[in-house]
Amino acid sequence: MFEKEKLEIIKAGMKLDRYGLVSLAGGNLSLRMPSGEILVTPSGMIYEEMVADDMVVMSLDGKVIEGTRKPSSDTEGILYVFQHRPDINAVIHTHQPYATAISLLQDEFRADLTTLGNACRGNVRCTPYSSPGSVEMGMDTVKYLGDSLAVILSHHGVMTVGDSLKQALNAAVYLEECARGYLAARAVGEIRHLNDEQIKQTVEIYKYVGQGHGAIPHELLGRIPGDGEKQ
Ligand SMILES: [Zn+2]
Repeated sequence: MFEKEKLEIIKAGMKLDRYGLVSLAGGNLSLRMPSGEILVTPSGMIYEEMVADDMVVMSLDGKVIEGTRKPSSDTEGILYVFQHRPDINAVIHTHQPYATAISLLQDEFRADLTTLGNACRGNVRCTPYSSPGSVEMGMDTVKYLGDSLAVILSHHGVMTVGDSLKQALNAAVYLEECARGYLAARAVGEIRHLNDEQIKQTVEIYKYVGQGHGAIPHELLGRIPGDGEKQ
């Protein structure tokens, strides 16, 4: 059952490893099938050693439909996200170090780099602390996500979401890239911010980037002055 999708999840898990977002068996990935079942990675297994049969097929209310492995220890929180956000089809949880580090400093990661506007659709909020494996992880994700595709779980890790695994993976990889740039800048000086209007513009522009979208409408491309800048 769902062989192709199971292999797609394993491949995405290996990419998380390749981009330095998880170590060994850290984090987890889950994917909603059009027929409603949720595929969840098994607990404590290394992605490059996983095979399709290691994946657990679950119902939305948490019953195991297929699979002999124990599902991720975060399954309750993950299912909460799928239950409360029918628009979300993929959830990725990582312990990616740079993005997680931001939660040690502040409550929000502003999209001062345009890549964050692209991959996460704007600012990314940090949730209050909740323990790993708790349903609160999922509740906080739903509460703090808004229109964004990511939240940072304070003192813990990151949750990214998407209508597809590809979108959730993009959000995780580029969130980390932006976090590295941000922390590098912050380590040596004051951060200069984009204003809300500029961030909104980058989010809108990136809706037209990539195959399958039309050209960026010209009216979207005007320069918006920064705060305090002359018109
Ligand atoms: Zn975790």
